Amino acid sequence: MPLPLITRFAPSPTGYLHLGHAFSALTAWHRARDAGGRFLLRIEDIDIRRCKPEFEAAILDDLAWLGLDWDGDVRRQSDHFADYGAALDRLQDMGVVYPCFCTRADIAREIAAAQSAPHGPDGPLYPGTCRGLAPAERRARVKAGAEFALRLDCAKAADRAGPYRFFEEGSGWIDGEPGLHGDVVIARKDTPTSYHLAVTVDDHLQGVTLVSRGIDLLPATHVHGLLQRLLGYETPRYAHHRLLTDAQGRRFAKRDQSLTLRALREAGAATADVRKRAGFD
Ligand code: GLU
Repeated sequence: MPLPLITRFAPSPTGYLHLGHAFSALTAWHRARDAGGRFLLRIEDIDIRRCKPEFEAAILDDLAWLGLDWDGDVRRQSDHFADYGAALDRLQDMGVVYPCFCTRADIAREIAAAQSAPHGPDGPLYPGTCRGLAPAERRARVKAGAEFALRLDCAKAADRAGPYRFFEEGSGWIDGEPGLHGDVVIARKDTPTSYHLAVTVDDHLQGVTLVSRGIDLLPATHVHGLLQRLLGYETPRYAHHRLLTDAQGRRFAKRDQSLTLRALREAGAATADVRKRAGFD
């Protein structure tokens, strides 16, 4: 028996949903429903300073207005820090994580001073300043109360994980590049997890079999595949979709207030009009 298809839509409640989100949610919803599968809704609110309950309420309301229903309870990431902590403990036990005391300014200074700074999909990679700190130095800084994030040592992690790959619909198997993003943050200074860790743990715990999301997140899949391998999780299939753009070819962003589903609704648009503008008749 093939596995039931389980997709998810995982917005962050840092603003109102816009047409790009509608496209993404409709895409994942149709994939699940067309296959008789399940469609899950996850609220990615680990950034507790930027996320707001009113945006979360608006997300649920806007999705229902669009005609989308979801299966089971909504999973709110801020309710599950213990799950991410347990995965983090396992990574720490493997010795593939280290504390990083750098501030953004420290990192920028280090990169500016370097002869050549390797770049990843999101810009210059972390230069590895804290990777080689002696254990005694680390302990002393922690004891002195210095704030720190935890980073994945991608070279050590790659050694431990061995080669890995993931299946991207439309292009086929893609070999994992463990160093693509450098030593990514796995737990932030202000939050005991990061996007990469939380999304990987949640997709596993929720039994997601097809990750349908925007193409802008394809590079992040190299990190998620690595974490899945380290943590012994199944790797789901991936279907990264194009990003919906406006008439000028620009992708929608939270700053485009006029194109939030809320604004379109208030301006009198009907559900069918908005579904059509998001590419679904
Ligand atoms: N929370 C992410 C966002 O709003 C999506 C994460 C994902 O689909 O993996 O962009």
